[in-house]
Amino acid sequence: MPAHPERTTSRGDSAILDVVLIGGGIMSATLGAMLAKLQPDWSVKLYERLGDVAQESSDPWNNAGTGHSGFAELNYMPDPANSAKSEEIARQFHLSRQFWASLATSGDLPDPSAVISPTPHMDLVFGERDVTYLRKRYETLRSLPLFSAMEYSEDRAQIAEWAPLTMEGRFGSEPVAATRYAEATDVDFGALTRALIETTRRAGAMVELNHEVDSLTRGEDGTWSVSGTDRKTGKRFTARSRFVFVGAGGYALKLMQKARIPEVRGFGVFPIGAEFLRCDNPAIVERHNGKIYGQAANGAPPMSVPHLDKRVIDGKESLLFGPYATFSTKLLKHGKLIDLFTTVKPGNALVLAAAGLHNLSLVKYLVTQLVASRSAKFSEITTFYPGANPADWYPIQAGQRAQVIKPHPRKIGELTFGTELVTGAGGTIAGLLGASPGASTAVPIMLNLLQVCFTERWDASWSAIANELVPGFGAGSGGDQQEVDDNLRQTGALLRLS
Ligand SMILES: Cc1cc2nc3c(=O)[nH]c(=O)nc-3n(C[C@H](O)[C@H](O)[C@H](O)COP(=O)(O)OP(=O)(O)OC[C@H]3O[C@@H](n4cnc5c(N)ncnc54)[C@H](O)[C@@H]3O)c2cc1C
Repeated sequence: MPAHPERTTSRGDSAILDVVLIGGGIMSATLGAMLAKLQPDWSVKLYERLGDVAQESSDPWNNAGTGHSGFAELNYMPDPANSAKSEEIARQFHLSRQFWASLATSGDLPDPSAVISPTPHMDLVFGERDVTYLRKRYETLRSLPLFSAMEYSEDRAQIAEWAPLTMEGRFGSEPVAATRYAEATDVDFGALTRALIETTRRAGAMVELNHEVDSLTRGEDGTWSVSGTDRKTGKRFTARSRFVFVGAGGYALKLMQKARIPEVRGFGVFPIGAEFLRCDNPAIVERHNGKIYGQAANGAPPMSVPHLDKRVIDGKESLLFGPYATFSTKLLKHGKLIDLFTTVKPGNALVLAAAGLHNLSLVKYLVTQLVASRSAKFSEITTFYPGANPADWYPIQAGQRAQVIKPHPRKIGELTFGTELVTGAGGTIAGLLGASPGASTAVPIMLNLLQVCFTERWDASWSAIANELVPGFGAGSGGDQQEVDDNLRQTGALLRLS
């Protein structure tokens, strides 16, 4: 069987597609838009099980919209002297920003402010121990080109100027410290997904809504048969494709298991849902400009670090606080309760059990969150905003995260919190598992996929085009200060962030 089945057809001969994208979220959308730029003559089809794209994790109200850049996420730097993870996330976001800016230049993001808004990222911590930690973290980061604009303060008046709601009604002499990166971002990943899918569609791709894929089979000729059901008519459909991307979010593992590729043998998923508190009261919203992160509670998974965020969605500003962990056996918000059980196989049952035993503190944390009363939950927000009034806030259910559980040589099973690109069958299929930092890093993830799965094309022509679209991609971790500043200025102007 050929590793990569030769492409002999041109568009118009629809017998075999070049690429099928499963799922209409930010990941498929990013890959589709990249292919539209790199290889516009390819035939591409996107299948989405729901009636519209961007209805799951990529919907703006199903995630926090943080343009994760490592500025405020303390969980990336438990050791304040080790900036490796923060630097890496900052570099990755910088690449996403460059790609989006190039789309703004080509007219593919006609109104960047509908997608990305300038929103400072802050940390706010209390008590001697955390203040010392934050000071050290700042000292480590400030010399790095992508972080040099970060500010630090232990002065309550200064912090009040940055974020008035956090200091009002805060009495006593407890040490307080904050960092701020003024030119950080809030991203409407739903609007971005739609714009990217529109770019994909303009290059000739077909988008099939209400089409749920349930079978992936590789034929003797190396092409994939992608089959499923049209949920509107109940009719079956099948397409053949040389390459399949499984961008199905929480359902990605399920589909990769159906494809029977050995690379996912032993893998499992564990769903963690999220709830936010939302406030639309303009009198409060207009007094807060930023995304403020703090320290996570004991046993909390890294993505449950609480934050008080300004959001800009459909031109309207709101505040969001959370996330609070929720639990359901659904792997998608619009999924089914049976979902989790369909991913349990003889090959991963032991791995799942071992991961459960190694994460009892997480289980305890989840149970504590689930049984917490509304007032106990609300009291968490007062850590950031002492004067918060419950009447101004209401809960909203966010997306499901399907955390990846992997086989581990010593522990048997390990629960991970990152994003995992899995490729198989000679690079003819790839899928994205996991959810964090997720949408913000979709661009470097997809550039990586293109290099791994289409090595020859990448070397022959795509890398040159990609380097124009994302100039920092080949340049290591951000370049020197002048280069980074120039790039931030240019991309900021193109995305109307300045
Ligand atoms: C609570 C929460 C907060 C988050 N906060 C942030 C944040 O602040 N910043 C950030 O960068 N990221 C954040 N993320 C992560 C980010 O939202 C995700 O990483 C990203 O949206 C995942 O995109 P996706 O395209 O892989 O999946 P999704 O957006 O979930 O899209 C998958 C799509 O596939 C479709 N689908 C599934 N199965 C099938 C099938 N069989 N056939 C056809 N279609 C199918 C689904 O209907 C869905 O539309 C957050 C996530 C959550 C849950």
